[in-house]
Amino acid sequence: MSRLRLLAATFVVAVALVAALPSTASAHPATGDLRNNHTLCTTCAVRQGDIVGLWQTMLWADGFLGQCGSSGVDGFFGQVTRRATINWQTNWNNTHPGDRISADGIVGPQTWGRAESKVLSINFGFFLYEGAIAHPTMREDQNSVWTFEPAAVFGTGELFGTNHPAITIPRC
Ligand SMILES: [Zn+2]
Repeated sequence: MSRLRLLAATFVVAVALVAALPSTASAHPATGDLRNNHTLCTTCAVRQGDIVGLWQTMLWADGFLGQCGSSGVDGFFGQVTRRATINWQTNWNNTHPGDRISADGIVGPQTWGRAESKVLSINFGFFLYEGAIAHPTMREDQNSVWTFEPAAVFGTGELFGTNHPAITIPRC
């Protein structure tokens, strides 16, 4: 292989590696008002990571998603999570007939906002998500960065981050 061809081949590999990285690879946790958080869905730019684990933990706390395994809180926004999200949204509409939202399986400002209405302040930056079957802990630190207690370690008070696309939350 000529030197020029070798350089060209190296360039192609480098471009392919860069292209393979998600465009949102930098650390970017949920901060402040959850309505300003990333939109999550099966085809969204953000569909994997600890931030998905936060939404899944809310689904679990309301009884719409399993705690463990591939149909539980795993950090991946797949078809099971989409279906659980539609069920969560449908339940919201049934219980809030004057405040209906799109039951589309997409976690955007509407759905994050309704979920946030169930995030109740306890004290000193600590919160509880008031789910139907569990109240996992959440925390907003002095920089407005959110952490949360994933379903797999519910009851321990152990908090994990809300970045993406890395998945660091424990699974069970
Ligand atoms: Zn981000």
